[in-house]
Formats: sequence, C-alpha cells, structure tokens
Amino acid sequence: MKAPKDLYRLDQWYEGFGQGLMVIAGPCSAETRQQVLQAAREISVFRQVKALRAGIWKPRTRPDSFQGVGEKALAWLQEARAETGLRMAVEVATPAHVEMALKYEMDMVWLGARTTSNPFSLQQLTASLRASQVPVLIKNPVNPDIQLWIGALERLYQAGLRKLAAVHRGFYPYEPTSYRNLPQWEMLIELKRQWPELPIICDPSHIAGESSYVGEIAQQSLDLNADGLMIEAHPNPPEALSDPRQQLTPAQLGQLLDALKKRDPSSANPHFNSNLENLREQIDAIDHRMLDILARRMKTVRQIGRYKKQNQVSILQMNRWQDILTNRLARGQKLGLDQEFLKKLLELIHKESIHQQRQLINQDKTDS
Ligand code: PEP
Ligand code: MN
Repeated sequence: MKAPKDLYRLDQWYEGFGQGLMVIAGPCSAETRQQVLQAAREISVFRQVKALRAGIWKPRTRPDSFQGVGEKALAWLQEARAETGLRMAVEVATPAHVEMALKYEMDMVWLGARTTSNPFSLQQLTASLRASQVPVLIKNPVNPDIQLWIGALERLYQAGLRKLAAVHRGFYPYEPTSYRNLPQWEMLIELKRQWPELPIICDPSHIAGESSYVGEIAQQSLDLNADGLMIEAHPNPPEALSDPRQQLTPAQLGQLLDALKKRDPSSANPHFNSNLENLREQIDAIDHRMLDILARRMKTVRQIGRYKKQNQVSILQMNRWQDILTNRLARGQKLGLDQEFLKKLLELIHKESIHQQRQLINQDKTDS
C-alpha cells in the first residue's frame, strides 16, 4: 500500500491538540471513581495535558492479576470529562470493548502492543471500528517487527479510518537492560519515512518501566519530533493496582512536562537540521546499547574471575588474550573499523577486565 495522503493531523482531531505538545496522561488502570476523578483533576491543570488515559480491560500475563474494572469505569471517565474538559482514551482489545467505548462516547481508543501483534484480533477490531471515525492509537507490537505495525495501520486505514497515530512503547528486550522495553528509534524513523503524515506519539512509561527514566525517554522522543506523549500518572503510584513502579505522581508529571524541550525543527536549513538530529538520536540509542553490552561483558568477566580463583588459575592467560586480539582485529577489518583505533579499544577493555578480576581477589582478601 502507498503512503496515505489524507490522514488527519493531531490538531485536526480535537481543539487544542495542535497547541504545543499534546500529552495524554493518566493511570495505567482505572481503579475507583475517586481515583479517576482525582487523577483527572490533578493532571488537567497542566496546559500540555489534553486527554486522560485509563486502562479498563487489562490483559495481564497471569489470571490472578488485576484485570481492570470494566464497563463501570466508562461512566467515571464521562464524569471526569464533564468536570475537567479532558478528552478520554481507553484501550480496546475486542469488538465488545469497541462497542462499549463508542456507546460511552470515548474520544480516542488505543490498541495495545499485544493486540497489534495479532492480525486475527485486528481483523475483528477493524470491523467494529469501521463505522466510527474515532481516533485510534496503535501501539507497536511486542516484537520489533515493523511489518506487523504497518500491517495494523493499513488494516485500519483500509477500513476507512483517517485519524490514526502510532504509539512507540518499546519492544520486548531479550537481554537484561535498564529499561522494561527497548526503544527502537530507528524503527520510528523508518515508519515516518514510509508514512510521513502519520502522527507519532511516544509512551515513555512502558519503555522505562521505572518512573525515574520517563523524562529522559520523553525528551529523546521529542528530539525525534514526536507529536505527542502518553504518560502514566497516578494519584498514588505505590498503591497502583498495575504498573506501580513506572507511574508518576501528578506533581512529578508537572515537573517533567516543564523540563521538556520541544525544539523547533525549523532553522536556516531545516532539512539538514532534522537529518542531523535523527542521526544523533540514532547515535544516542546505539551508545545506550553499547553501554549495556559493556556492562554485561564486565559482569561475565567477574564470573570468569571467580571461577578461575576457585580453580586456582591465574588471571592472565597470554594465549587467550593473543587470540582475542587477532580474532577481533580481523573481524574489525571486515567491518571497516580502523585497526589502530580498535587495538587501543580492545587493550583498554582488556585492561579493565583484568582490573575487575584483581579487584575481586583483593576484595575477597579483605573479606577473609
Ligand atoms: C497500557 O497502556 O497500559 C498497556 C497495557 O500498554 P502496552 O499495550 O503498551 O503494554
Ligand atoms: Mn501500564
């Protein structure tokens, strides 16, 4: 399918959505009427916040976890809208959810990561959404498969929906990382290349998994020209029935929004500047991964250190180091890396690896 040219911009969805940054905030889950109303009141004071999000039907990994309060929360959201003027967004995963969300006149719906991953669910949802012109936010699939993401967008577009936006919530990390889900900014750039008109929203909360990382991720997405943010905020995060660690208090949300810089992409040469910015963001993402990998290497080095010590083997084995050097330099050459630079880097890493193992031994000495 060709890139669509008739999508609505966010500012054409609802009044106020185009004035600066568009933020959708609110609890991971609606829990009680009181909690929804309090969240809505406390976040509506921030000028960037245009909509309230709340999960009502929660697809959870384990059946004993909190499954969401269901339909009755839709009435609480209506009440919150009447009081604060915020637009209301809920997640839909089945045709029955869509029917109820439309019956209660929700202003936006979103498809969760697990739903985007499942073309069978999408087919059914598309059929129910077809008749409405409700804006639909489509989260990325759990796995970094851009075809699934674009496939979901295409299905909705072909059903006649024109108010669509992609939500970047990160991808399942197969290795331990500091974030709950890995952002893949490169994929976002590719999505934007294929569908230039598609509004992009970032959900830094589900990428972070922890409230202290939400700000830096939000800023990275704005530096990549994200059009909006979806951020989890709860009146009392430690007591939240789902995702307690990643939710912000309304006060924290306010501070975060104040600190964000939405840079103006226009300048003497906007094309050059935005390309440069995209490349730098890719570099940041690569470095982030490089640091995670380096930390993993050092962790493994310490495991080896302990193992050698238990077996009375010395730290340095010259043959092994020589092998590493020869083998990595040959590989580096194939990859086009400068040999002198690579040798220095390998030596530095090796030096630190030895240092780590020495520290282990010294530490054990002082322990005993
Ligand atoms: C959510 O937004 O609360 C949610 C469950 O998100 P995701 O589908 O991204 O996991
Ligand atoms: Mn959540």
